[in-house]
Amino acid sequence: MSQAKRNPSVVIIGAGMTGILMTIKLRKAGINDIIVLEKKECVGGTWRENTYPGAACDVPSHMYTYSFEPNPRWSRFFAKGPEIKAYFEHVADKYDVKRHIRFNETVSDARYDHGKWTVKTSQDQTYIADFIICATGILHHPKFPEIPGIETFKGAMFHTAEWDHDVEISELTRVGVVGTGSTAAQAIPELINTGAKVSVFQRTPQWLMHIPDFAFSSSMKKMMTRYPSVTKLHRNAGKFFLEHFFTKAVTGHFLQKHLLNFLCNANLKLSVKDKVLRKKLTPNYQVGCKRVIINTTFYKGIQQPNAELITEGIERITETGIITKDGKHHDLDVLVLSTGFNAFNFMRPMNLVGRDNLHIDKAWEHKIKAYRSMMLTDYPNFFLMLGPNTPIGNFSVIAMSEVQGDYVVKMIDKWRDREFDECEARQSAIDDFNAYIKAGLTGTSWVGGCQSWYLDADGDPILWPYTWQRWVDEMKEPQMEHINTVQHKHHA
Ligand code: NAP
Repeated sequence: MSQAKRNPSVVIIGAGMTGILMTIKLRKAGINDIIVLEKKECVGGTWRENTYPGAACDVPSHMYTYSFEPNPRWSRFFAKGPEIKAYFEHVADKYDVKRHIRFNETVSDARYDHGKWTVKTSQDQTYIADFIICATGILHHPKFPEIPGIETFKGAMFHTAEWDHDVEISELTRVGVVGTGSTAAQAIPELINTGAKVSVFQRTPQWLMHIPDFAFSSSMKKMMTRYPSVTKLHRNAGKFFLEHFFTKAVTGHFLQKHLLNFLCNANLKLSVKDKVLRKKLTPNYQVGCKRVIINTTFYKGIQQPNAELITEGIERITETGIITKDGKHHDLDVLVLSTGFNAFNFMRPMNLVGRDNLHIDKAWEHKIKAYRSMMLTDYPNFFLMLGPNTPIGNFSVIAMSEVQGDYVVKMIDKWRDREFDECEARQSAIDDFNAYIKAGLTGTSWVGGCQSWYLDADGDPILWPYTWQRWVDEMKEPQMEHINTVQHKHHA
């Protein structure tokens, strides 16, 4: 007679998009012993943190949606941050996810010993679990620039991911923005619209692509609500475009690469009339090397009379502004740091300790790598969501998480069926996976002569260099020959 399935206890770290998703997936699989540890007071992850003006998703709304919870009411083609956060709140409520969440509990320490994880939090709580799913996101830890004198600035200064809404910005304010990445490209035009004098300090120009954003009409929303197949069609069209154009363009597919190059060049030429300004905005590296910025507002904004693009390079920050390398002092009241994130922290600074007291800092001492982006050696029954070499280009991270989530549920199901008590990636499987990734990276745009948050300390992009479909296919079934499993004695 077959035995009933075992019921594992699972700790999920983070109640953002992936943490919510994993709770729903586990519950659907019949797993209910789930604790979600969330360091802040509400769900939403990156959409809770990033409240800067203009925050929006540059992946079409209907693609930035769980496949099982379409949203025919999206107001725009590219939804704004608050609407996206509201969507995650809605899903968490609808699927009763919140009863699993312990809010305001930061995981300080998680360690593995004899088949169990012991997780400690900032609230002095201890949780014992069979599995940990780390859903802490990718771009989570703001990176502050190391510019001489930064600590001396007397005006208001904050990172875009920690926007200070108490700081009033009006026509009389002189605002400096450091950085011109995806975030800055969205925030700068909003600052310019306030009438403030905005000085943009650009170190490296970026490639921008114009995809028109528009509001869905009420009849369109009604139709999508009434006919779910229309919503699905719209979503699939977006997916097709991203998969067969965008993803392929940056992974070395000739036709798509040249088309993307043409579109970004044409966007710059058609949008910026002034030749001097256009030259300043023209990158000297190939399109797609840094993440292509999907944006319709930046070029327009930077040409307004109250905006100035400064490319001389920052010498230092003073009490009252910024001195550039040409010796000029730029007087500022507010300094906005749009300088990106520490993309390689992953679950750190959490104290993550695997078998034999192996600390994650030690495990990743030489290189950050994981088997299929998710599993490590000496970290049994541990899954990292959206880890290194997930296909994080311009594709939807929700789609990526769903694929990874199914994989995790399949692995846990094997544990439930007593196929093993402990599972972890074989070191050889991690090395082989890394070599496989490395082989694919040579033809990609990411190694096209620029500095970006994609690159690790060795200059290797932490992205997936092959097609989306290949990733989906390879993630379909766990290949158990790549995984070490242990059965504890009681099953012998
Ligand atoms: P980012 O792309 O890493 O850009 C950081 C910017 O700060 C760059 O322009 C960089 O210049 C500049 N910078 C950093 N340190 C500097 C220093 N010391 N002096 C002068 N300039 C400095 O960061 P991000 O714009 O926050 O975007 C990060 C990622 O978040 C994006 O690539 C994207 O994946 C995601 N994101 C997505 C959306 C969306 O709509 N889905 C929106 C925003 C962000 P260099 O280029 O010279 O390094």
